[in-house]
Amino acid sequence: MDQITIDVMKPKINPVYLDFEKIYEVPFPIYIHNMDFSNDSGRVDIHLLYHKRATFTCPCGKENLKVHSKLPRIWRGLDIAKYGCYIHLDVPRLICPECGVRTYQVPWARDHSHLTHLMEQNILTLSNYMPIGILAKFLGESENRVSNVLTHFAISPKVPATRGRKKRTSPVEKSAPKMVPAAEEE
Ligand SMILES: [Zn+2]
Repeated sequence: MDQITIDVMKPKINPVYLDFEKIYEVPFPIYIHNMDFSNDSGRVDIHLLYHKRATFTCPCGKENLKVHSKLPRIWRGLDIAKYGCYIHLDVPRLICPECGVRTYQVPWARDHSHLTHLMEQNILTLSNYMPIGILAKFLGESENRVSNVLTHFAISPKVPATRGRKKRTSPVEKSAPKMVPAAEEE
């Protein structure tokens, strides 16, 4: 692809964004259009875009496919300092001559997951040191989402909710989440 085409497809908005594109594994022709830091809500929203004439590769490997439709998605990424990080993209849906309509597979997250690979890795590591409930609270995520990650990677919680304490029968304990083979979130 020649430089003129690249310049059209990917406008030079802010040089700092290029670094964040590397950190979050945002591939051309997708680019960061805007990063919105909100002190009030304690979050940064990273909005990704691509040119309307951009083409993408199908998960099967077929290249240069035009965008047929879009699927709005948001992923939770690793925090930036104290800011919770949320990545937004209208994911391209492609018409592939081999597969029919397929959704583009973003490189920073698993299919159907609402968390980036880095965030899931973080959860797997932290699950060695804290129970699911505390881990979820620590990350500001739902226990269900944290459980789904552990279930997907077939990891049993290393730290049971009752470790080091007598079995209690408080309402909190009774409602502790069970590890179930959860359906993937969508
Ligand atoms: Zn395909």
